[in-house]
Amino acid sequence: MAADLHNHTIYSDGTLSPAQLLRWGADLKLAYLGITDHDTDEGIEHARRAVEELRRKGFTPPELVPGVELSTEVQSRSVHLLAYWPELGDGPLAGLLARMQRERVARIERMVAKLGEENIFVDLERVRELAGPGVIGRPHVARALVEEGYASSVEEAFDLYLVRGRPGYVPRPKLDPPTAARTVHEAGGVCVLAHPRLVGDEGLVEELAGSGILDGLEAWHPEHNATETQRYVDLAHRYRLVTTGGSDFHAQGEGSGRVGAAIAPDEVVSELWSRRKRR
Ligand code: AMP
Ligand code: FE
Ligand code: FE
Ligand code: ZN
Repeated sequence: MAADLHNHTIYSDGTLSPAQLLRWGADLKLAYLGITDHDTDEGIEHARRAVEELRRKGFTPPELVPGVELSTEVQSRSVHLLAYWPELGDGPLAGLLARMQRERVARIERMVAKLGEENIFVDLERVRELAGPGVIGRPHVARALVEEGYASSVEEAFDLYLVRGRPGYVPRPKLDPPTAARTVHEAGGVCVLAHPRLVGDEGLVEELAGSGILDGLEAWHPEHNATETQRYVDLAHRYRLVTTGGSDFHAQGEGSGRVGAAIAPDEVVSELWSRRKRR
């Protein structure tokens, strides 16, 4: 048994529904599955219903760990925070997510316009269609670019057009890690630094680990090799953080993560949960 605590669904930039993900989780005999869409908890209710439905059909789905992934920025580095068990209600975190969702729409519109100025034509309607019920994001633009033949894969579309310094890039409105973490804690959630290697600055990762704003560090991730994983396990222990892990699964054929491709031991979930109750 194992815990995969980082997955995306059609409610953000993933391509599976929560029900499909949970079905995979059942086949893989995962004990826990985290659903951590970007800037939305919309998939969580669907996932809860899917768990019931799968049980009725005789499957043993993993226990759901509800979460949200927030993109923050510091020192021009992108810092992703995973919030688990947040209670949104109509509190500040719900307000923050609503604002981020609005800003995402505006950003993607600007990106598509910027690409057009460079004679790279993607149809905004098509991008919206690809986002479907999900919170829109760069992967949807990337998939449209691939469809139009501007790139041969989503990764290539990012490298050529959608990352900082490339013609379609538009920065995100600023949200800093302490503000995001405070808002998560106020909502009763716990805060985990996602895929620390992708921050791209180990000094900054250490600073964040020691800053007191985190409850956990995602040590197991498909983009971390064995050496890096061990380094993050050690770093977490040094700062008394829970070590978590997840596949960051988005879509088949995209990125390196499959459901279950990176997992944490089961007891991580209760360790994280107790952080929540301590506050
Ligand atoms: P956004 O939230 O709109 O800024 O888009 C960020 C998302 O794009 C991440 O959550 C990943 O799903 C995906 N992503 C980021 N960088 C890359 C990359 N270099 N190649 C493929 N996908 C990426
Ligand atoms: Fe994503
Ligand atoms: Fe992320
Ligand atoms: Zn993610």
